[in-house]
Amino acid sequence: MPNTLITSIEITHILPCLADPAKIRFHAETSADLAGVLPYLNTIIHGAIYNHAVPALTFNREHRIICLHPHRIAGAKVDDLDDARAILDDLSALINDTWARRDEITPCYERRERLTPVDIFKLLPRTNCRQCGLPTCLAFAVDIASEKRSIIQCAPLFDAPLKDKRDLLLTLLTDAGYQVPSPFRPTDDAR
Ligand code: SF4
Repeated sequence: MPNTLITSIEITHILPCLADPAKIRFHAETSADLAGVLPYLNTIIHGAIYNHAVPALTFNREHRIICLHPHRIAGAKVDDLDDARAILDDLSALINDTWARRDEITPCYERRERLTPVDIFKLLPRTNCRQCGLPTCLAFAVDIASEKRSIIQCAPLFDAPLKDKRDLLLTLLTDAGYQVPSPFRPTDDAR
């Protein structure tokens, strides 16, 4: 089997970041299927969250959120286009190095971490309206991160004006292996 997995990554979309208006999001497509390398990356990336069913590997790189899918890489809270390119260059090297060394690495197929409450909080309505039964959105985010509550208990999130934030949060939760009721799970086209 070849030891170089990906030869190119192409940025396909640059979008406003919904969690932080000063940042951007990006989508990029990879020249090869990453599904096989994700369990090995899950072993070596500290704090990564792996969902083998999707499959998807989510992790933080400083303040940024990065998610790897079989043919796609998504980034959120990224500084700018140059930052996105630097992240993808580093990821390309990491993916190819991990793939080349896969015989020395024990793959991990389990989720070992949870999302942080802050990552969830930034995509909630942040009005502290108490409709979920908690005094603040941050308290709700803590309960979501620790899987004590369901995201559908935040009724205002499902109002039409918050669709973009809701879609991103539901994708983040689904990719990280949280229970999201099937009518609200993102389709592959929406990722
Ligand atoms: S219902 Fe949603 S917006 Fe209202 S306090 Fe709870 S988490 Fe915040």
